[in-house]
This record gives sequence, structure tokens and C-alpha cells, in this order.
Amino acid sequence: VVELRGVTKAYGELQVLRGIDLAVHEHKAIALIGASGSGKSTLLRCIDLLDEIDDGDVLIDGEVVTDPSVRPPAVRRRLGMVFQAFNLFPHLTVLENVTLAPRRAHKVRRAEAEERARELLARFGLAGREDSYPDRLSGGQQQRVAIVRALAPNPRALLLDEVTSALDPELVGEVLEAVRELKAEGITMLITTHEMGFAREVADEVCFLHEGLIVERGAPEEIFTAPRQPETQRFLRRLL
Ligand code: ATP
Ligand code: MG
Repeated sequence: VVELRGVTKAYGELQVLRGIDLAVHEHKAIALIGASGSGKSTLLRCIDLLDEIDDGDVLIDGEVVTDPSVRPPAVRRRLGMVFQAFNLFPHLTVLENVTLAPRRAHKVRRAEAEERARELLARFGLAGREDSYPDRLSGGQQQRVAIVRALAPNPRALLLDEVTSALDPELVGEVLEAVRELKAEGITMLITTHEMGFAREVADEVCFLHEGLIVERGAPEEIFTAPRQPETQRFLRRLL
């Protein structure tokens, strides 16, 4: 569904991505792990065209979306992105947050958008919170609303950037549970995370990013129990 070919990205002198090749296939979940500053968020932002790449291609369903002729909003409509810091619209209710994109960008009728929103909110444990404003919700609830909002327009893939790292420890579990639910639904996902146990459980493939390159990738059992590259070994050892 989503593919990167030789993607490079620098901020000024700082070369952040040095040639990323990656494919996220339909119904698969890929976890991107790596030290702080290794370029995980940048990689997701490049896919969503929030950052412009220097070289290489990003493809969605075979279409090169980094071509200058492609309009970023049209690409973003096909993806759902969830950030570390929820980014809900504070002046809109939960239901309005979730139905905004389907109604505005996808021209779904209000009644239909609301029906789907209520259904999704219920599935993610948010029934009864439709009319709440974000500041009335816990961090875990807000993040689950953000996930539902990203999911509502039926994106081709979800990009989840550290969706638990802004949360109090006791709220992490409910958000991880929501991502498990996404996985059970067969949603295609690219996830960055510092939660190795979670990556191991939910990912079909784990990619280890080191200084802007994917230096090792494989099944979670391989990466976490028998990493082959010294950089991966060092990274994982430091976490223990
Ligand atoms: P973390 O695990 O802390 O979230 P990360 O792997 O997501 O880290 P990035 O946020 O992608 O790392 O950042 C990679 C590098 O690019 C860092 O050195 C960061 O300081 C730099 N960087 C990120 N965004 C910008 C920007 N807009 N302008 C300049 N430098 C940036
Ligand atoms: Mg990051």
C-alpha cells in the first residue's frame, strides 16, 4: 500500500534519512524502532507529505505521490496520521472532531458520517463521550478519539507516531489496546514506538532505524531475540 524507494531527507546540514526502502503491504503492521533522533517521525512526515523529501519516491497504491504534480491534501486524505500529542480540535466536540474530515474532505453526508463515527467511538470504548469537548477527556481517551478520527475516512493506511509517549503510564494500556483492535481489524499500519513489548506483539515486521538508515528488519522474534547487526544489539541492550 505504502512504499518508499531510496528516500533521503536533510534539514540543512543534517542528513536525517539516508536512503530508506520500505514497503507496507495491505493488512500488515510495521513497527519502526530506533533511538531518539534516528528519523522515525521524519519518515512518517515524509509519507504524509508534511515534509518534502530530497530524493527518492514515496508511492501509495503504486502512485508516486512525491511527484510535484500531486497535491498533498489529496494524498493526506488517503492516509490517517496520529501524533504523540493528540492534536484534537479543542473547540469541537468528540463527534465533530471525528466527522470533520469525512464531511469536508470526503463529502460524506452528515447523518452517514455521524453514524459511522458513533459506531467507531463505541468500538474504541468512547460511547457516551460524543458531545464532550477534548479538555473534558483523559489523555488516553483523547488519544483514542484521535485514532478514531484518523480511521473515520477509511484511509488506506494509518501512520502512528509514538501514540503512547505523551500519556501517563496508567493510560498507556488503553491506547495500546486500541491499536491491537486496529490490528485485529486488519488496518494497514506503520507505527513508531518506544514500547518494544508492544512492537513485538503487534508488528508483522520490525524495522530498526539507525542514523537515517534501516540497518535491520525482520520478524519481531528475530529482531528481539537474535538481532544480527551490532547497532541493533547495542540499541536493544541499552533498553534492558
Ligand atoms: P524520537 O524518538 O525522539 O521521536 P525520531 O526518531 O522521531 O526521534 P526525528 O523527530 O525524525 O527523530 O528527528 C530526526 C532528526 O531531525 C533529529 O536530529 C531532529 O533534531 C531533526 N529534526 C526534526 N525535525 C526537524 C526540523 N523541522 N528542522 C530541523 N531539524 C529537525
Ligand atoms: Mg519521533
